[in-house]
Amino acid sequence: MSNLKNMNETLLAKIKEEVSESIFELWFQDLKIIKLTESAIFMSVESDVQLLRIRDKYMDQMKFWIKECFDLDMQIKLYHNQFGKITDEELERDAAEIRKNAGNDSGVTFNRADTSDGGANGEADRINEIIVQKNDNIQPGKNDIIYDGKQNFKLDYTFENFVVGNSNRFTFTACTDVAKYPASRYNPLFIYAPPGLGKTHLLYAITNEYAKNYGNAKIIYVKGEEFTNQLINSLSERTSNYFREKYRNADILLVDDIQFIAGKNSTQEEFFHTFNSLYESKKQIVLTSDCPPRDIKLLEDRLTSRFESGLITDIQPPDLELRIAILKQKAKDMDIDVSNDVLLFLAENITSNIRQIEGAIKKLNAYAFLNNSQITVDLARACILDILSGTEPVNVTVEKVLNLVASKYNVPVEEIKGRKRTQDIATARHISIYILRKITDMSLPSIGKIYGRDHSTIISAIDSITEKYNNDGSIRVQVDDIIKMAKS
Ligand code: ADP
Ligand code: MG
Repeated sequence: MSNLKNMNETLLAKIKEEVSESIFELWFQDLKIIKLTESAIFMSVESDVQLLRIRDKYMDQMKFWIKECFDLDMQIKLYHNQFGKITDEELERDAAEIRKNAGNDSGVTFNRADTSDGGANGEADRINEIIVQKNDNIQPGKNDIIYDGKQNFKLDYTFENFVVGNSNRFTFTACTDVAKYPASRYNPLFIYAPPGLGKTHLLYAITNEYAKNYGNAKIIYVKGEEFTNQLINSLSERTSNYFREKYRNADILLVDDIQFIAGKNSTQEEFFHTFNSLYESKKQIVLTSDCPPRDIKLLEDRLTSRFESGLITDIQPPDLELRIAILKQKAKDMDIDVSNDVLLFLAENITSNIRQIEGAIKKLNAYAFLNNSQITVDLARACILDILSGTEPVNVTVEKVLNLVASKYNVPVEEIKGRKRTQDIATARHISIYILRKITDMSLPSIGKIYGRDHSTIISAIDSITEKYNNDGSIRVQVDDIIKMAKS
């Protein structure tokens, strides 16, 4: 036991060093190591809120801290004591379970073991269930890294392996400057480009480089969508102070795809204050988007003007030279031997998007491997047929749009195509019609056929959504989201 106690003290001291005082007091001060087995470390906190918070926000760090303190790569099992202390039997039962499953585990599990009277205790059961359910969605560190400069994140996205050409040189240089001289030259740095041209790569490269240059800094990388989700969660969990503090304490804040906050009032409000607070305390802000600030629909004017107040820079589609250089680099990274003929063929035919270039070369490699054949121009042609033919067939698009609308509005596809006129169903139907008209070349009668209706019905659906699209911000954002997904 004294062993565990020592470990506990070491771990807490470590955490105290790593997080701010208020965060420590809020979430960690009563964290206890309660059991240790050969493959797992069992810990408890007092409340389920703490458990959720640690699980959602600190799991990557926790593994890292444990590794640093004890050099152990352990499964972490976290409990809360909200319904009374965890008993030894419960722990032993879970430990046995872990031993049984050893080898095929994700590495991190969370729960509040059933209390011994679990069946009778409805409340405990319910909460346990929510936790378990949330458990399925854990993707530590996926969108949101806050790290302390020692952890590396996405090491493969660096400045070194970003291939520079005419179309991205200026932006590249601005990014390296920001990582070296934060908040002194360009603040904010605003990067825009269509998808697949390297925005996210550059943001990660900045975080990696910045972490190297400034050891103990708080770096926050977050996607616009995730920022929105976190804000909403923090409001419903009543943890908005924590949220606020987290962002306003950053040394550098990178928000990827900031356009997602447009049209969402409370998110824009919060981001406005975050922005000001960081800006005033001379912290670097880097933003990306698919278009320049003033073209982001439904972005508040005060945000547009903030975003325009630093340096705005874009990335253009790569020219032939750059495409060849990128192909060479990717082939090298993936350790694939590709002849110049093939490289040139690919570079000439995939022109707009670097993600596609990368996809093509991966696919090519897989084809060659599976067929046990050489990578020839013919094979390459076969491989990128779908890209060469440009857009996908209309029926694929129709299906995609219907499915997207169905899931967004929670109405089955058959009902969207059917006759019912309840409000939900009609709205979903009209929106899908509007989108099909907007993104395909289909005629009104052929759209009508999908729904078994004549073209005048289709026109009135389009008119009604056009009107809403122009006047109702939330509809516009929903429609644009669906269009974006349908096109991706
Ligand atoms: P975006 O965020 O603009 O949609 P990404 O940064 O995700 O684009 O880039 C798509 C893919 O293309 C990534 O795998 C990235 O590494 C690669 N990529 C983009 N630009 C370059 C470049 N100049 N050099 C090397 N790889 C690149
Ligand atoms: Mg991106």
